[in-house]
Amino acid sequence: MLVDTHCHLEKNSYDSLEQVIQNMPGIMITAGTNRETNQEVLDLIQQQKNVYGVLGIHPEFVKEYQEEDIRWIEEHIQDSKIVGIGEIGLDYHYDEETKEEQKKLFERQILLAEKYHKTVVVHSRDAILDTYEIMMRHPNVRYVLHCYGSSLEMAKRFLSLPVLFGIGGVVTFKNGTKLKEVVKELDLAYLLLETDSPYLSPEPYRGKVNEPKNVDIIASKIAEIKGISKEEVIEITGQNAVCQFDLDISL
Ligand SMILES: [Zn+2]
Repeated sequence: MLVDTHCHLEKNSYDSLEQVIQNMPGIMITAGTNRETNQEVLDLIQQQKNVYGVLGIHPEFVKEYQEEDIRWIEEHIQDSKIVGIGEIGLDYHYDEETKEEQKKLFERQILLAEKYHKTVVVHSRDAILDTYEIMMRHPNVRYVLHCYGSSLEMAKRFLSLPVLFGIGGVVTFKNGTKLKEVVKELDLAYLLLETDSPYLSPEPYRGKVNEPKNVDIIASKIAEIKGISKEEVIEITGQNAVCQFDLDISL
């Protein structure tokens, strides 16, 4: 089963979000990032059969979020079709000054996931060691390292946790050598497909608006790197997604 385990299905990103959802012959997990987009996630999963959601405050919004946003997430975390907490994590790329606040916000949301037995969808940019350290404090939580971009060596360290790696468009890029090595060396049992739509379009659409149906291109690329069939990639990564998120596909 084709599963796009990470996308942002936001109305403002597309001429017709309906059409984008119809174009995808599989399941999508859309991720919230702040108050507005979390509400959008909640509305969308009620309207669209094939769409599931995760709720969270992205590190980009560490300065803007309010207490009631966290309370709101806790109120809805057990809603049907909410399958995790995300997209949360650490991003030191643009803003190093908020490091300590980001760490606190990240860990606090992991604690919520722990309390309600939900999967955590992790964003980590230029912050992999701090990300690792915080995750290691909560070793029983299931994690997805969305758009994994660190080394193979680091990936192997993460394997002591119940973690899967989200593989996206970067694997199709010419300069995606490091990620290709990760995909080649890690067993398919640890990999998930994702697009991060509307961002990170795979080749040959790099730079254009991305959409979940392009997850098929990621599957092809992983198949090519591992020397197996695309069908096998879709089948196994689909099972991985169902397990890691407790996806109830009958909903
Ligand atoms: Zn994302």
